[in-house]
Parts: sequence; structure tokens; C-alpha cells
Amino acid sequence: MSDQLNIKVPDSCPHCGHKLTPWQQVLLKVDKALVCKNCWYRIILEDVGEQNKTDKKDSEK
Ligand SMILES: [Zn+2]
Repeated sequence: MSDQLNIKVPDSCPHCGHKLTPWQQVLLKVDKALVCKNCWYRIILEDVGEQNKTDKKDSEK
């Protein structure tokens, strides 16, 4: 399973603080970008979890 759902999506515009609707949050999550309709600031979602960390092979036991 992918861990992409762990991406943190802001619930408000970081520029003007305008509340994002749940639908806008979905769009932001999918597109990784969203333009705030209040101040037209382009919100870019940090691609957290996008990069798969090179697996540390912790030898268990
Ligand atoms: Zn805004």
C-alpha cells in the first residue's frame, strides 16, 4: 500500500488565511497545487512522502 495519504493538506490559505473547502483540499491533494480564490495566491503542496526514502536496511534481529 502507498503512504501517499499521509500528505498533510492545509485547511486554510497560508497567505490570507481563507478557509479551504473540503473539496478544495481534495483538489490540492490531487493536483499538489491550488489557487486561493480569495487572494489568488498559488498554494503549493509540499510533496511530502513523494520521495521514497532509500530504504535503510535495518537488519532486524
Ligand atoms: Zn488566500
